[in-house]
Amino acid sequence: MIPTTEARQRILAGLTPVSTEVVALGDAAGRVLAEDLAARTTQPPDDVSAMDGYAVRQADVRALPATLNQVGEAPAGGKFSGTVQAGQCVRIFTGGPVPAGADTIVIQEDVSAEGMRITVQKAPPGGTHIRKAGLDFRAGTVGLKAGRTLSARDVGLAAAMNLPWVRVRRRPRVAIVSTGDELELPGDPLRPNQILASNGFALSAFVSQWGAIPLHLGILRDKPQEFTRLAGELANVDLLVTSGGASVGDYDLVRSALGHQGMAIDFWQIAMRPGKPLLFGKLGATPVLGLPGNPVSALVCAVLFLRPALHHLLGVPAAGEVPFVSAVLGRDLPANDMREDYLRATLSRDEGGRWIATPFPTQDSSMLSLMAQADCLVQRPPKAPAAKLGDAVQMLML
Ligand code: AMP
Ligand code: MG
Repeated sequence: MIPTTEARQRILAGLTPVSTEVVALGDAAGRVLAEDLAARTTQPPDDVSAMDGYAVRQADVRALPATLNQVGEAPAGGKFSGTVQAGQCVRIFTGGPVPAGADTIVIQEDVSAEGMRITVQKAPPGGTHIRKAGLDFRAGTVGLKAGRTLSARDVGLAAAMNLPWVRVRRRPRVAIVSTGDELELPGDPLRPNQILASNGFALSAFVSQWGAIPLHLGILRDKPQEFTRLAGELANVDLLVTSGGASVGDYDLVRSALGHQGMAIDFWQIAMRPGKPLLFGKLGATPVLGLPGNPVSALVCAVLFLRPALHHLLGVPAAGEVPFVSAVLGRDLPANDMREDYLRATLSRDEGGRWIATPFPTQDSSMLSLMAQADCLVQRPPKAPAAKLGDAVQMLML
């Protein structure tokens, strides 16, 4: 049994980021950038007004009220071509370029206008309400870095930087197989003692959610020959994920059956609960992540190992760092043994705004109902002493 951090490092070490592709910006949200994005334009391109009002010379509005002649207009996108001379002003609108000669924007609320003659009642110091050229960014500045998952805000920034298409990592293809003689798909007729195969559905959903493409290859029965066709189906697969059959029982065939087909096993047991039988290896060129069969174990291991694996394939930096959050316990916990524990828990907040994580009293690794209800996983380090309500813990939001 190896520690979880070592298992994660070894998984990441066995994976190479996938190749890249170019997508239209409209399709780029949620994709991972494969290169730094440098602005192709300066924003704003010129000094512009931040208000509707009049562009004036500071020297003309030192003594107030001051009467000035309006000699032109500067709407957004339209520059006044002349120079503002002493005693003159230019009508200006938000986003309009500040004309040459002017250095102050007087807001229209502080002006009374009569035809082309305006009287300024109140004027701010020079430079007020002027957005300098390049205030937001300058051409050539890197606005978004490789490895970033593009948010809606990022897509807006890329558009403002004049980047109609972007290079991203292609979505990794992840084959998913479930194993077990007892499994049947939801909706199929059930014989006595059969179990519904839920893992493939949840894992496929996770894989999509984490930016990859799930290929659900169905259920393999617990017979070695069932595994023989698998290697042939992996030509364009970046990662094979199995569930079940990873333990040490007579019917746990993943290790032996794939081993007979030449899978090089890196490790197959980790010091964690739930999820001790976690396997990592390589079948030919294809990395294999063998998840436990118990639904909760499979999903907890997916969060702790599959998500970082996909992030690493997508070129996300520091993919192996688990985003733990501090909380206090909402109930007492007994001392832990030598396996790192991940307890399903609900979250609330105390009056001070701190997270309170309350583990469910029952932590059986078959209980999907509690897994679905859980807000977070409370981490218990190996050999952690008994803990009291209110003690500090680390948790992972689900
Ligand atoms: P195994 O690791 O194959 O021994 O499976 C452990 C437990 O998980 C058994 O009770 C299996 O019936 C159950 N199990 C295995 N695969 C799945 C699956 N895809 N969906 C739901 N339960 C499963
Ligand atoms: Mg099984």
